[in-house]
Amino acid sequence: LRILSVGDIDEACRVLNKPAREAVAVTGRLIGCVEAGGTKFLCAVAGPGEAPRDVVRIATATPQETIGRAIGYFRAAEAAGEGFEAFGIASFGPVELDPHSPHWGSILKTPKPGWSDVNLVATFAEMFSVPIGFDTDVNAAAIAEAGCGEPTCLDDLVYVTVGTGIGGGAVTNGAPVHGARHPEMGHIFPPRHRLDHFAGICPFHGDCLEGLASGSAIQARWGATLSALPPGHEAHDIVAWYLAHLAMTIAAILAPRRIVFGGGVMQATGLVDRIRSYADRLSGGYFDGAGALSSIIHLPRTGLHAGLIGAQILARQACKRVSRD
Ligand code: ZN
Repeated sequence: LRILSVGDIDEACRVLNKPAREAVAVTGRLIGCVEAGGTKFLCAVAGPGEAPRDVVRIATATPQETIGRAIGYFRAAEAAGEGFEAFGIASFGPVELDPHSPHWGSILKTPKPGWSDVNLVATFAEMFSVPIGFDTDVNAAAIAEAGCGEPTCLDDLVYVTVGTGIGGGAVTNGAPVHGARHPEMGHIFPPRHRLDHFAGICPFHGDCLEGLASGSAIQARWGATLSALPPGHEAHDIVAWYLAHLAMTIAAILAPRRIVFGGGVMQATGLVDRIRSYADRLSGGYFDGAGALSSIIHLPRTGLHAGLIGAQILARQACKRVSRD
């Protein structure tokens, strides 16, 4: 990575659209929050007791350029405040989540050019010398939606993002599920919708769920976003039908108390209601003892910033781990 100059800090301040001194209120040490996505990085800071604020969006380009700009933003905040206590990074996958691995914090083999083996944790640790919390973007969103760390935390919740790709993060017994690596809920094979003969676009599986119902798949087959297609267009029903199969599969395997559907595609009007309706038809009343399947399907309560709020929780957890050790 290139060494940051004063110019980078000025650039970050322009992004913040504030003079450096006003960029961050001096309220104590800050938490740095990063949601590292395949199309954009969101960066934010939070003082004690604050929600993430001063959010900047950095288009994901090369690792050098993208991470360099993110670090420039945080250096600007640092110059105006009291420095950082910790960072939380919620990243697109696949990533290495095993803290005992020398590659902990790395993005693993990805089709995204230049990003394989980039170690986000090592880069931020080297730059700021503070504890770093790290998880997938969807696990981070799941812990944010579950309210981990709050007295009212939901112990069992699944967060699904339907955007460029489809991914899912799970909290069970109050902690994110990692397993041997981390779940890849977008790559299940739903049955084919009777009107659907599209080959699918997943480079690994063709017509897995992500290959059929992600934002990229919608764009590839209908030439528009779901929101841009008229409500009567078959795309709305086909996509909802596939996503309802994911909800049914998640409920059958993990029995969460809540399944949250977020991501850009979910902003299409009426989509969550269509998913609920198909989910109840698919479940055949089998889950009704604990309430209909549709009753646990929700849009994110944390809005569009679930990943950043999750990153903030990851940072706090990293601080606690360090103070325990
Ligand atoms: Zn796939």
